[in-house]
Amino acid sequence: MTVWVGTSWKMNKTLAEATDWARGLAEALAGRDLGDVQPFVIPPATAIAAVAQALAEEPRVLVGAQNAHWAEAGAWTGEVSVPQVADAGARIVEIGHSERREHFGETDETVRAKVAATLAHGLVPLLCVGEPAEVQAAGGSGAHVLGQVERALAGLEAEQLSRVLIAYEPIWAIGEHGRPATVAELAEPFAALGAHWGSRVAGLLYGGSVNLDNAADLLGIDHVDGLFVGRTAWRLEGYLRLLEIARSAEAARARTINDENDDKEKVK
Ligand code: PEP
Repeated sequence: MTVWVGTSWKMNKTLAEATDWARGLAEALAGRDLGDVQPFVIPPATAIAAVAQALAEEPRVLVGAQNAHWAEAGAWTGEVSVPQVADAGARIVEIGHSERREHFGETDETVRAKVAATLAHGLVPLLCVGEPAEVQAAGGSGAHVLGQVERALAGLEAEQLSRVLIAYEPIWAIGEHGRPATVAELAEPFAALGAHWGSRVAGLLYGGSVNLDNAADLLGIDHVDGLFVGRTAWRLEGYLRLLEIARSAEAARARTINDENDDKEKVK
């Protein structure tokens, strides 16, 4: 089973910094067995092409864009389109991050349009959803994120859904003012997402104050197929450690499945 480990750099890193990070990653991964771990990196738009170029020898790492407009081209000053980010080397488009919903007027409708445009061009939409602190305090996390996902993915066919990634990122848990979520707090929203979407989409990721101490526990939560990480992965050493943690988690999962299968064989 694929375990996704991705990072978005938000509005950070110069071209030189981005290239160093990506070259360092390519060197560190050369000849390394990643198992079913799927790395991805989402630089700012200015650095997509440079990062893709630096990772040309390491195509196992997917490159993404933090946003893309739903229109193909035209009079949309300041925007970039899905074909443009694809041209620069992106294969994933992050859509609906809470910072874009809060500061840039991203709505359920624009999120839906961007998901559709991303799929139409053969890229992977990484749909971000998450509830504010007051909704979580009232016990409404699962219902809130299910509503966001339902509105973003309305009308898509099964084949299209199978190419979508969902990142559950509670707003109260992300960024420097975020509080790391406990495993117990994440069980209910992931149970809800897993029950409704787990078998229909490409993966359910968790994001929000992931660090080297909590990553293994977060990967152990039912229905969590990977991690979407900010600050901890901005330094390459942090990202490489997360890949190792994910590799161990994935190997442990594979062993459990094998043991269960062996037990079933013995019973026969
Ligand atoms: C984010 O902002 O989406 C995020 C996951 O950031 P961090 O890991 O820094 O909390």
